[in-house]
Amino acid sequence: MAVPFLDLKAQYKTIQADVEKAVLEVCRNQQFILGKTVEEFEKAFAAYCGSKHAVGVASGTDALLLALKALEIGPGDEVITTPFSFYASAGAISLTGARPVFADIDPATFNIDPAKIPKKITKKTKAILPVHLFGLPADMKPILELARKHGIAVVEDACQAVGAYTDDKKAGALGDFGCFSFFPTKNLGGFGDGGAITTQNEKLAQKLRMLREHGSREKYYSDLIGANSRLDALQAAVLQIKLKQLDRWTIRRNQNAAFYAKQLSKLPLILPSTPAGCLPVYHQYTVQAEHREKLIEHLREKGIGFAIYYPVPLHRQKCYASLGYKKGDFPVAEAAAEKVLSLPIYPELTPAQLKEVVAALEEFYVSVV
Ligand SMILES: *Cc1c(COP(=O)(O)O)cnc(C)c1O
Repeated sequence: MAVPFLDLKAQYKTIQADVEKAVLEVCRNQQFILGKTVEEFEKAFAAYCGSKHAVGVASGTDALLLALKALEIGPGDEVITTPFSFYASAGAISLTGARPVFADIDPATFNIDPAKIPKKITKKTKAILPVHLFGLPADMKPILELARKHGIAVVEDACQAVGAYTDDKKAGALGDFGCFSFFPTKNLGGFGDGGAITTQNEKLAQKLRMLREHGSREKYYSDLIGANSRLDALQAAVLQIKLKQLDRWTIRRNQNAAFYAKQLSKLPLILPSTPAGCLPVYHQYTVQAEHREKLIEHLREKGIGFAIYYPVPLHRQKCYASLGYKKGDFPVAEAAAEKVLSLPIYPELTPAQLKEVVAALEEFYVSVV
């Protein structure tokens, strides 16, 4: 039996009638840009995240970009982030004209290591941008303390961590801004691109609403240099239905992770670990494996889906050659990039499929290596 890495059709079957009704409603009311459907979703999403405000935008990348813009970060500024993430975490910083400054990760969590941040802070540092990678919150307490001490902002990249908890607060509700993506493969995914920014600050929320709409508060009067980056009403309609299922799906992801943790514990793999006080949402279940290339070959033969997040750390990406980083600058991130392997973890996996994944891994370590 083949096990896909992700099966969005399996999820769709469970919500099809409700989603189609909601989409049809938008088709019939013809209110595609902002309006009631988007407002209702924003309210529900803010409440879900434990934030006062949520502003829907066109993607997770734009969520990061507009959050940085709202802080007036631009050329000459620096923003500290992790070298081990999806490209957009750093790309959004570069798009403002500011410079991404990397600080290495903690090998146990894959998240930025707060102990590596102080040395990176300069007069130009305007913000820290931690990423809650794979659905596990970054170590926020020391990050928030550092930010407070130096008078700089914190922009959380929570694109993979919707619903995750750290110390009784939701990811995205701790910093100045929480940035979320509704890309279809995310834990809360729309039917195309989408994103949102959460904040507790009314003034910043107002500024974000302007920035996503040509910098205008009133149509045809632009006070700021803004973008065209709104969450479509069609997406909001889909997301509103899916948001109601999100906690149920997160529980399933955690159950699947618990099954793997138990069944894989005797294999020579490094399994994900959860620091005290954190409740992850397992956007990915990422193990570290020696002999990864051989293991991948075996999984391919067995029809088991997998993914490598991420094969190249950000400081080693071609687009960042001009930043002057070199191999060896962030050894923990570089080592992770060579060993990480993400296994199927989506909520609709059946017990038989989970067993199949475990069996394929067991077989590899018993008979292949
Ligand atoms: C998906 C993702 C983004 C970007 O989101 P898009 O909606 O695809 O623009 C940014 N950061 C992280 C960590 C992500 O996983």
